[in-house]
Parts: sequence; structure tokens; C-alpha cells
Amino acid sequence: ADFRNKQLTLTAWERSRNRENIEYGKRTNMPIKAQRESLPVFRMRQQLVDAVKENQFVVIVGETGSGKTTQITQYLDEERFSDNGIIGCTQPRRVAAVSVAKRVSEEMGCRLGEDVGYTIRFEDETSPQTRIKYMTDGMLQREALLDPAMRKYSVILLDEAHERTIATDVLFALLKEAAVKRPDLRVIVTSATLDAEKFSAYFLDCPVIKIPGRTFPVDVLYSQTPQLDYIESTLDTVMEIHINEGRGDILVFLTGQEEIDTCCEVLFERVKTLGDTIQELLILPVYSALPSEVQSKIFEPTPPNCRKVIFATNIAETSITIDGIYYVVDPGFAKINTYNPRMGMEQLVVSPISQAQANQRKGRAGRTGAGKCYRLYTESAFLNEMMPNTIPEIQRQNLSYTILMLKAMGINDLLNFEFMDPPPRVSMIGALEDLYNLQALYDDGKLSKLGGLMSQFPMEPALSKALIESTSRGCSDEVSTIISMLSVQNVFYRPRDKQQEADNKKVRFHHPYGDHLTLLNVYNRWRDDNYSKTFCLNNYLHERHLKRARDVKLQLLNVFKKLQLPVSNSNGDIDMIRSTLVSGFFRNAAKRDSQTGYKTITDGTSVSVHPSSALFGKDYDCVIYHNLVLTTREYMSHVTAIDARWLVESAPHFYKVAGAESESRKRAKIVPLHNKFSQNQDSWRLSSLRQTKEK
Ligand code: ADP
Ligand code: MG
Repeated sequence: ADFRNKQLTLTAWERSRNRENIEYGKRTNMPIKAQRESLPVFRMRQQLVDAVKENQFVVIVGETGSGKTTQITQYLDEERFSDNGIIGCTQPRRVAAVSVAKRVSEEMGCRLGEDVGYTIRFEDETSPQTRIKYMTDGMLQREALLDPAMRKYSVILLDEAHERTIATDVLFALLKEAAVKRPDLRVIVTSATLDAEKFSAYFLDCPVIKIPGRTFPVDVLYSQTPQLDYIESTLDTVMEIHINEGRGDILVFLTGQEEIDTCCEVLFERVKTLGDTIQELLILPVYSALPSEVQSKIFEPTPPNCRKVIFATNIAETSITIDGIYYVVDPGFAKINTYNPRMGMEQLVVSPISQAQANQRKGRAGRTGAGKCYRLYTESAFLNEMMPNTIPEIQRQNLSYTILMLKAMGINDLLNFEFMDPPPRVSMIGALEDLYNLQALYDDGKLSKLGGLMSQFPMEPALSKALIESTSRGCSDEVSTIISMLSVQNVFYRPRDKQQEADNKKVRFHHPYGDHLTLLNVYNRWRDDNYSKTFCLNNYLHERHLKRARDVKLQLLNVFKKLQLPVSNSNGDIDMIRSTLVSGFFRNAAKRDSQTGYKTITDGTSVSVHPSSALFGKDYDCVIYHNLVLTTREYMSHVTAIDARWLVESAPHFYKVAGAESESRKRAKIVPLHNKFSQNQDSWRLSSLRQTKEK
């Protein structure tokens, strides 16, 4: 018995020394060629290439990290597929598209944007010589508007198809159709999970190639009792691993940027108290909004005598692979975008993950050696409360943007559109109603002229509607600025130790009518200061986000130019700007309620002005908001005071003035019209859904 114990302790040490060799020697310091050849996909190279030559559709399944994303495109390029068109590869996430393109350009020894490039919304890093192009699935979906046959491409790889984003789901159908028109087009679908048979059946029983994985066993440790505060238990678990466990890096899954930043800060403080006997802990965050220089740090090898802990969103589940992870901490939550039909709004909601996701997370610990996965939930919760699979986005999100694009492609027959898993009819009808209310569709359900213009902007229909309106009303300069500012991350910087000072600076930009005009103020004052860095520093503004807003604005102006829409400035006509915003956001209107603050006009939900808003503590009679944030209560964020009459003026089909016309107009009560088809025009709904495809 004595011996066995000793053996055990020894093994623990040996194991950790072993790890050192695998982790810090092997992958990271190998020359690129050897690194590439060490990936599991390399042994399958010939088989993959042959399959793509012989079949229009191929499904590829392989563990995350086996080399699917970075290698297959290169193999096809080496086999000269790119002579007949670009090799395109889609990613559900922007960060993944950028980071993978960077990696592949390094592997190929070329500059990013030349032979290898990427395109994400508002950012195009490609050139005429680009042969391998990574992009978000949303961008390729937009390209289908101009070129449904995808003539630019020889091969399209729909990567991470198991994520089932709306854009990937729509591309399934679009590419299946394009392939009929183009016998030379090749479509590859990759997946990390075993949805392969379903994908294969959809793509005419195409071959499925499995890449044998190289994985090590992972011990799963469940929490004994349900955890009340998963952040606190996460931090405890990380500290425990760091102090008690052998070497190896830690990967923690959290739900979003704020949570990640907080955890990094708190952990940093706690680690400081540990003293010198414990090795150093390197704390790194990973989320989409992080600048890419910071992000690439996670791929750098961990220095000796040091452990790395990475706090990531579910981007690290499958899209990016970090080597050297031995411990995974999984609190069991993710933020998912869900559509709330009651509010007519999309909301990011923190929800429990599925069993499939939990297993994917676990797998991250077993790539370099045997690992451990700490599940901060009970085994019974895993077995009985978590859903087996994540629900495809298309079945839970607002489809207005997607349907507008399909209509713009001339696809009217939505009932017979070949979705792999069709969205529920109510959500299709809801989207059609949204679009109709925005006047993007005519009464017969066909795309209106306005709708056609709106589809040219890569943003939600309410925003594109306001943009088009601004050109006819004469304030497109200002409205495009506001919308650009709404499309980027929050520009206000609020460091923990200088919150008051930052808030004082912010207040100086506040416009009495609210947040949209406040954003306009910020942008214009930055512009008047020659877009200077000092201005940002002095005013607690994120320069990076402002610069992005400037890029977005430039792109919007380009679209205006392409569509020959005028760009003009209202010369300070604030009412013109506000009423233009109403033309897109009339649905998000709330009026003052003596008891609860505000109530939404469409359905009477109680809502409050978010404390960060310029309108916090002010009482205007009627406001519009950009979105609702659900925390302890429902908050309106980005709020602007409006004249209630504009609602009826902008959307006479949606609102009416209740009571006699003679009443004082100021006091007039605005109520939603239960518009014609939400009650009894079933025929309208069906006809617009059923319309046969136009030639
Ligand atoms: P898959 O798509 O099958 O999940 P990838 O092609 O993304 O696999 O990754 C293969 C390997 O390439 C990873 O295991 C990792 O070692 C390496 N890798 C990927 N991206 C980077 C990067 N940005 N920096 C360094 N190494 C990377
Ligand atoms: Mg991949």
C-alpha cells in the first residue's frame, strides 16, 4: 500500500514534467511545415482532395483542432483549385475569420490581404490576387444578393456548420441551388459534431469523411450542489487548480466581455496575495471585441514557470483552438441571441448550454494530454436539465433581415425554400409583418422599392429604413453617423478606478433630447478635433471604437453613392433627425406612465430608462429606444425623446390617434393599430409566403 501511494505521487510529478515536454516543446517551436504535417488532417490529405474532385458536396467531420479550417483550404490551393476561382471559407464568427486568415497567411508566408485574405462586415482585407478567402457566413450570404451562382468561387467551405447560424442555414439552401447551375462548383461542409448524416442526407447523400481525432481522456468533475453564484465558484475553482494541480493551462468559459473583464481583474487581485511560492499565473481574456493584437497573445507559448488561464466566451468552444489546455472550467452558461416575440426585439440572454456544448467544452482539455473538466453544475442538471442539442438559430431568432434578403434575391416562395430545418411559421409571418410595417413589402407581400434599397445595407431593417429615409428628408449625414455609432461597441470608456471622472466627461456630451444625438455630438466633436487620439484620451472615449464607427460611416456613404442617394446635412434641424429615427424605430416607442416610469406603446410592458442614458431622470412624454436590456428589470438603452405625433406620421399603418381629432393635439393619445393582417388577413400571409418564384 505504501508503495502504491508513493507511486501515485510520483506519477503526478512525472505527468507534469511530461506535459512540459509535450506542451512547450512540440507544437509551438516546430517549424511551420512540421506543425502542419503533425495535424490529424494531414494524413487524410489525398483522400480529401480526391473526394472534392469527384463530388460536388462533401461533408467533413473532425475534432476541433484537427486542422480542418487552416489546412483544407491550403490543400485545395496546392491542388490548383484556385485557378478556377477563389477558395472561400465561411466562419460564424468575425474573430475566427480574422484569426484564421492571419494564421494561414503566416503558414503560406504571404502578407495578409494578398494571397490570403478575409472579409467581415465593414472590413475587407482582400485583393484581386486573393486565392483563399475567409469570411463570415453573413458576408457570403450578402454576396449571394449580387451573384447567386457564386461565380467568383471554385470551392466554398461552410465551416463550423454545426453552429447552425441563420446565415449558414440559408447558405445551405443557396449553395445547393447554385451547385445545380454550376456543375464545377464544390461545396464542403465541416462540422465538429456528428450531425454529419443529416448534412449528408440534405446534400443528396454526399460522402462523409471522418478525420480520426487525437484526443486524450478527460476526467469530468461535477459540482456536488447547484452553484448560486457561478462567477464566485469559477474564481474559486481556478485558484484551486492553480494552487493544487500539476502544470497545464486553464480554459474558462464565461458568457461575455463584461463578465470576463471582471473575472480577470478580480483574479489578478487574488493572485497577488499568493506570494512567491506559487508559480506565476498569466491571465488572458478572449472575446470578439478584443483588439486582434491582444487576442494573438493567447496563441503565444506559455513562458516557463508560469501557468496561463484564459477566460473566453464560447468562441473557444470550436472556432479557435488554443494548445496546451489541461483544465477546463465550465459554469454551464452562454449568452444566446433570442428573439422575444412579445417585445418584437432580439435579446441576448444568458442561458444554460446544451449537453453537446458541454461535451465540446470538455473536449478542449484533452488535446495535448489527459485533462480535467470542472463542471460547476451537478451531474443531475447535466442529465436532466440540459437540452441534448442547441436549437438552430433560425428557429429562435428574428428573421426580418434574412427574409428581406431572400426577397431581394427574388425568393418569394418561402414555404418551399429548402431550409434544412424550416423556421416556425409564426416567426416567418412575424418577420413579414415587421417588413410590411417598415414599408419594405407591398400589400401583396412583394419587395417594395424601399425594401429593395434597404436590402443593400448590411444591417437590421429598422436601421436601413432610417438610413433611406434620411436621404429623402435631408439629414443622411447625421443619421449615417448615428447609425455607425450604434453599430460599434460602446465608445464610452469607464475605468473602474475613475468612473466618476469618466462620467463627468460623458455628461458634457449629453444632448437634452437623448442618446442618439449624444452619439452624434461625440462623433462630430472628435471629427472637429481632427479625429485626434488626445481627444479620446481626454474624454474617456475608446479611440478604436470611434475609428471603427468612422469606417462604418465611410461604407454607408459608399452604399449611398452606389444607390445614387443624396448625402446632406440638416444644418442642425434636430427635429428632422429625430423624426427620421422614428421612421425606423417607431415600433420601439414608450410613453410616460405615472406609476412605472414608461410603458411600451405596442404592448404596455413596463420599462425604464437605463441609468447610463442621457435621459435618465428626465421626464419626457414619449421616447423611442434602440433596444431593451434585460437585467433586474427591463431597461431601454439608447433613448431619444420624440413628439408622439411623429409615430402616426411615420407609420400611419401601425399607429393611430385615439379619440376625437378635436382634442388638444399635444395630449393626443397614440395607440397601435392592430393592422390588417395581424387579425384576419390569413390570405395575405399565405399568399406572400406562397408566391411562386419570379423568373
Ligand atoms: P480545426 O478547424 O479542425 O478546429 P484549425 O485548422 O483551426 O483546426 O487549427 C489547427 C491547429 O492550428 C490548431 O491545433 C492550432 O495548433 C493551430 N492554430 C490555429 N490557429 C492558430 C493561430 N492563430 N496561431 C497559432 N496556431 C494556430
Ligand atoms: Mg475550425
